[in-house]
Amino acid sequence: MVDYLYRCPEGHETTHAAAMGDAAPRASCHCGQDARRAFTAPMLGGARRASHGAIERAQASAENPAVVRSAPTVSAPAAPTDPRHAMLPRP
Ligand SMILES: [Zn+2]
Repeated sequence: MVDYLYRCPEGHETTHAAAMGDAAPRASCHCGQDARRAFTAPMLGGARRASHGAIERAQASAENPAVVRSAPTVSAPAAPTDPRHAMLPRP
């Protein structure tokens, strides 16, 4: 389902959910007038805050990547806590 935007001559905006490509060209507004379908840029401002920040960081790093001066430190993996791991064959 896709939310389609409709705008009446008074400027009221309403959305109606319909299957993709199945939107009616007109819908009724709450003020009683006939609302015409409005076209908007897809998904602008619709992203969640967390993903919006991630997208902005990805776009910023694409143009100005951060300079890395050393390799990241990796800690040793934690030893298994299950005692059955000690019984496994060793290479
Ligand atoms: Zn209206």
